[in-house]
Amino acid sequence: MLPAELLEEGQHLMAVCNSCRYCEGFCAVWQSMETRSIFEEKDLNYLANLCHNCSECYYSCQYSPPHEFAINPPKTFARLRAYTYELYAWPRPMATAFHKNGLKVTLLMVLILVAVMSSASFLLGGRLFMTVHDGNFYKIVPHMVMSVAFAVVGTFSALALLIGFLRFWRNVGESHSTLASPGAIATAAKDIFTLVNLDNGGDGCSYPKEKSSEALKWFHHATFYGFLSCFIATTLGAFYYFVLGQHGAPAFTSLPVIFGTIGGLGLIVGPIGLWIMMQRRNEEIVDKSQNGMDLSFIVLLVAISISGLLLLVLRQTAAMGSLLLIHLSFVMTLFLSMPYGRFVHGIYRSGALLKWSLERSRQKKVKAPA
Ligand code: SF4
Ligand code: SF4
Repeated sequence: MLPAELLEEGQHLMAVCNSCRYCEGFCAVWQSMETRSIFEEKDLNYLANLCHNCSECYYSCQYSPPHEFAINPPKTFARLRAYTYELYAWPRPMATAFHKNGLKVTLLMVLILVAVMSSASFLLGGRLFMTVHDGNFYKIVPHMVMSVAFAVVGTFSALALLIGFLRFWRNVGESHSTLASPGAIATAAKDIFTLVNLDNGGDGCSYPKEKSSEALKWFHHATFYGFLSCFIATTLGAFYYFVLGQHGAPAFTSLPVIFGTIGGLGLIVGPIGLWIMMQRRNEEIVDKSQNGMDLSFIVLLVAISISGLLLLVLRQTAAMGSLLLIHLSFVMTLFLSMPYGRFVHGIYRSGALLKWSLERSRQKKVKAPA
């Protein structure tokens, strides 16, 4: 159950905004709001996850503080989102720990994973500090250690994300059967991959608005596509190793290295840019309780990229073993934190865009002549 004070704040916001409707052209939140007259917890949770916190509405609002209505959509939606991250999470105590101590929990996980993987590698004959090798990392960290670690961590993370998404879907009032809607999925996928609505964005930083909006969009793009590129690189690397039987260090001109390098650079530029822009935000519209969660996500992405690029350059030196363990521990910690940290915003926002797409197609059917 949504805390009474947060429910009241959300309903107050919607009561004022639904009477005013000045912001209706800004983003999907306002168009979706206008199709409702009653705002229960499920509606607030859905709208909060549809919001991407650009703050355009706040800067346009005649009822924002110091007006007595104290309308502050980005902050109210951010507080509601933080509540939903814990509500949908499985297991919930993990989400609470990440929310309260994001960076500390992240670092602790990295240390535990380094300790467990290095012990397992020693026990299974891995040669972590060998000085001459051909870059075949399975001679350093045994295949068994990597496969078991990634199978356990990957399965846990995928399961937690799936459970979280299904909890979100039911909580916002949709049945599982509505997930099988190809047309709505196609529209939502287009919205997701084009980062729809990120063209607006009065994020209150010191740049002129147009410039800041563009920068925000490009840092999001760098992060999103950097992540995708690294995922493609990892998949291609596995294909080269297991299907094509190429066990040595891949050439600098090979596809896994090219995708990995582009992705790694994107995941350095994007998250650091987003963090710099976040520091410039107006504190009035930020839910500071989420700073630790944001910082831990950004630190992890940058740490993965830097350790990955170092691994590429130093892969035929004695540093490879230690670097590989550290890099893999960062990657696995990212997997483990995905269902609880900032990453999960992407999952629930995608779900909210899918619901928005479904709502539009239902409205079209109602309006269509018999
Ligand atoms: S945020 Fe302000 S201007 Fe926008 S719809 Fe709400 S009350 Fe109106
Ligand atoms: S902060 Fe931006 S995305 Fe969120 S409701 Fe306001 S205009 Fe829409």
